[in-house]
Amino acid sequence: MKKIAVIGAGTMGNGIAHVFAQTGFTVRLIDVSQVSLDKGFATISKNLDRMVVKEKISESDKASTLGNIKLFSNLKEGVAQADLVVEAATENIDLKLKIFKDLDTLCEAGTILATNTSSISITQIAAATSRPEKVIGMHFMNPVPIMQLVEIIRGYSTSDETTTTVMELAKTLGKTPTEVNDYPGFVANRILMPMINEAIETLQHGVAGVTEIDTVMKLGMAHPMGPLQLADFIGLDVCLSILNVMYNGFKNPKYAPSPLLVNMVMAGKLGVKSREGFYDYSEHKKAEIVSTQFLKG
Ligand code: NAD
Repeated sequence: MKKIAVIGAGTMGNGIAHVFAQTGFTVRLIDVSQVSLDKGFATISKNLDRMVVKEKISESDKASTLGNIKLFSNLKEGVAQADLVVEAATENIDLKLKIFKDLDTLCEAGTILATNTSSISITQIAAATSRPEKVIGMHFMNPVPIMQLVEIIRGYSTSDETTTTVMELAKTLGKTPTEVNDYPGFVANRILMPMINEAIETLQHGVAGVTEIDTVMKLGMAHPMGPLQLADFIGLDVCLSILNVMYNGFKNPKYAPSPLLVNMVMAGKLGVKSREGFYDYSEHKKAEIVSTQFLKG
């Protein structure tokens, strides 16, 4: 494994490119949007600056990491001769199926195709290719340069060889890979999302306010962040989409998204990315925001 192609330069893609490049891999970062590519590269540079200031890396480490990354807006050119492709494009099933169909024809027969999807079936994505044994989930956590876990998801047909290669690769990045099977939500989101959903229901039922719920979970359970604040960071639209995948996948009402979550997403209150969710993120301050108007519907 030498050449890595990363598809999508957004929140996750630029982080994934960062850790591969810092470990010495040649990285081709691909995005359909030039704005995303430029923003992604600037984010990597800024995050490396922070590491230089903290004396975790030197200026020359920063320069060589940036030197390992090349930007591409053309998929065919970007994935040429890649040993591994990590797809981190927008969470949309039709988009991912199309990308994997294209990758299957553009990449060499030996190339492993990984996806960073939060919830979409690896088995379904693999079925869009003629090499399902070489398709695997490589679920990095946000922010990628900091978070230790990579959830490695085996699709129905993923081979032992592909799994071993990707597990070893994640260790090379200094991460801790954990192998799981392909069921809706995998492990991370199957456990996390019902907790977040329950916190939203608790709020909706008026049991306690935003700050109180988050304080109970932070101080009572030693969570670094309360579930409502975490939902804001993940994105309320992303939470809703993952819950819907589990609700539809298991046909079990326990995964039904809270009506308050649905309302907030419809109202465009998506959390940090829209500057407003359960908290107000305008002017760089965090203040409880959810008001009774959301509780009405
Ligand atoms: P994002 O919206 O920040 O970035 C997605 C990027 O994909 C955008 O820059 C977009 O221009 C690009 N893109 C769209 N179509 C493309 C195409 N055809 N080819 C190349 N690039 C394309 O999204 P994100 O939060 O980085 O999520 C990416 C993936 O990672 C999703 O599958 C998501 O579920 C998963 N994920 C997200 C998080 C998180 O906390 N945000 C955590 C784990 C996994």
